[in-house]
Amino acid sequence: MKTKVLLVGIDGLVLSRALESGKAKTLSGLKDKSFFTDWKVNVPTLSGPSWSTLLTGATYEEHRVQDNSFVGHDLLNRPDLLSRAFYQDQSTTTFAAAGWPPLVDPAGHGPVIHQRKEQQLAYKHFVVVRDGETYGYQRIDSEITDASVYSLENFGADVNFVYFCGIDEAGHAYGILGDEYLTAIERVDGHLTRLHGAITKRAESHGEKWLLVMVTDHGHRDEGGHGGDSEQERASFVIAHGIGRENPQWKSDIEPHQLTDLLLAERA
Ligand SMILES: [Zn+2]
Repeated sequence: MKTKVLLVGIDGLVLSRALESGKAKTLSGLKDKSFFTDWKVNVPTLSGPSWSTLLTGATYEEHRVQDNSFVGHDLLNRPDLLSRAFYQDQSTTTFAAAGWPPLVDPAGHGPVIHQRKEQQLAYKHFVVVRDGETYGYQRIDSEITDASVYSLENFGADVNFVYFCGIDEAGHAYGILGDEYLTAIERVDGHLTRLHGAITKRAESHGEKWLLVMVTDHGHRDEGGHGGDSEQERASFVIAHGIGRENPQWKSDIEPHQLTDLLLAERA
């Protein structure tokens, strides 16, 4: 049986703040017993270009997403991880849930995750679209979690992408040094705990092999905000945890644009 993948995108997470705060118990615990590397994302350290690279394997130059307007992008020629997993093996089922519309909403500028309507109609591809920009990520991240846990428990797609933006939202509003940022970290860590629990249960009851991968698209300046080339804005990481299988044996000097290929290789 092929490894199933759950990629959790945590927007705007300064990992060092999470670890030193003690508020991210699940994330910290997973980091200690998983493949881990810290890497630098490219400039501009913005969600649009950075997630486009992490989710497609294309560099900034290749996908041409320059900022969060997505003007001039070439994403139609740069299929995402879920689509590429399907093209690699057309029995592959996929699931994406996100509250930042450009990642999944066809009404907007993207989406980075291709719609693949035929596969949606055939119950091979599921997309949960929410709008945290309008309704706030505290609420929307919770809805994303509920929908994702339901899907994992009852369906268990082969390749899953689940995205949270509450930490980034708190960083923009309050900076990263105060309690608000840490409270948001604690909240998202709770969501991660539920996702981890759902796939752990599946691995045991169905004898499945899972790879749980966590990644962020950029950090924040102390006062909140990002886009520049400071070390803290470029700081990112990948944690990859095997459940019902070994952790992956990736090199420590991998780069963000290589993540998609590494994940596809785990499915091969
Ligand atoms: Zn972001």
